[in-house]
Amino acid sequence: MLKYFLFSFSCIITLLLSGCFTAVTKETPVTRDFFAMDTYIKIILYEPDTDNHGNNANNRIAEKAADAAQQEMLRLDGLLSSYNADSEICALQKKSGAVVSEDTAALLTRSVYLHAETGGAFDITLNPVSKLWGFPHGPYRIPEEAEIKNVLSHTGMSKIHWNPDARYFSKAEPQLTLDFGGIAKGYAAEKMAAVLKASHIRHALLNLGGNVKVIGSKPDNSPWRVALRHPDDKDRYLGILSVKNKSVVTSGDYERYFIKNNKRYHHILNPKTGAPSRNGLRSATIICEDCTLADGLSTALFVMGPESATSYWKKNKTLFDFILFTEDNKLLVSGNLIPLLETQLNVTPVR
Ligand code: AMP
Ligand code: MG
Repeated sequence: MLKYFLFSFSCIITLLLSGCFTAVTKETPVTRDFFAMDTYIKIILYEPDTDNHGNNANNRIAEKAADAAQQEMLRLDGLLSSYNADSEICALQKKSGAVVSEDTAALLTRSVYLHAETGGAFDITLNPVSKLWGFPHGPYRIPEEAEIKNVLSHTGMSKIHWNPDARYFSKAEPQLTLDFGGIAKGYAAEKMAAVLKASHIRHALLNLGGNVKVIGSKPDNSPWRVALRHPDDKDRYLGILSVKNKSVVTSGDYERYFIKNNKRYHHILNPKTGAPSRNGLRSATIICEDCTLADGLSTALFVMGPESATSYWKKNKTLFDFILFTEDNKLLVSGNLIPLLETQLNVTPVR
């Protein structure tokens, strides 16, 4: 069911985009569809320097680049998954300390930084609490307060020690596990984009279950159009963003959830309470160049809620833009994005 759901979401963006391609160009994109990091992934890319006659040599470049990007994603999935017994992350669960790979090191550094920056909203130690609720794969349940309190007392970023120079990770609690679910897809998108750029690809879109990164423009120099799903209806959009060279990453209460007694319980936890975050937002979308930052911040701003999120943005205006959809159906949009966003909804600009 979840896979179907995620697939539908990917398709919305993809269909919207492929509709645009057919209208504006006869060039055929090279595409890849596959499943990794618990998500359907779509890569769309164009040959470098196409000559409009289907140059075979160039076509091989695009095909090879797509394969290499897919391989890179599968490599990272194998390394970072909290659920694959062979991953580095799972191996770390059994050790009190270890020198870690460059990728894990990069993610640890970014996560520690984001935790400090967002007042603790971003926290990679919550995996045991997620499991209490049954996330990510069920069976779902509502844990007792005392259970949450107990498990929560064994989590927290203060219990991990990270020495980036020595690339040495250690932890104060034996049970502590790392969960890069809030940031790994963004990092993987950056790494795939680097592989494509190294192969001279200039026009590409990577869609990792709603985490979107675009390289350049579409081949005709027009912007890519990225649809933002409405939380209540996978066939409706909050709006469509026109972007070049950007990442567009959304965190929302509709990605993984269950409903009990008419109440929605979703997968993004408030580190202070150990419960699904209920701070007034249905979704938080971050737009900036770096997909790792966009992914980490989308999770963090979702947890922070509209007031803290907008005041955080006001202190960091040059780093990113945002679209927040609130529980009372308001669309709060950072000022720079207004000209790039098509929407039927009333927009509240934030400046
Ligand atoms: P995202 O869809 O990027 O917002 O990531 C959600 C995932 O991040 C969840 O499925 C968890 O694996 C993990 N997660 C949950 N709550 C948090 C949090 N407060 N900070 C960081 N990661 C979290
Ligand atoms: Mg995230």
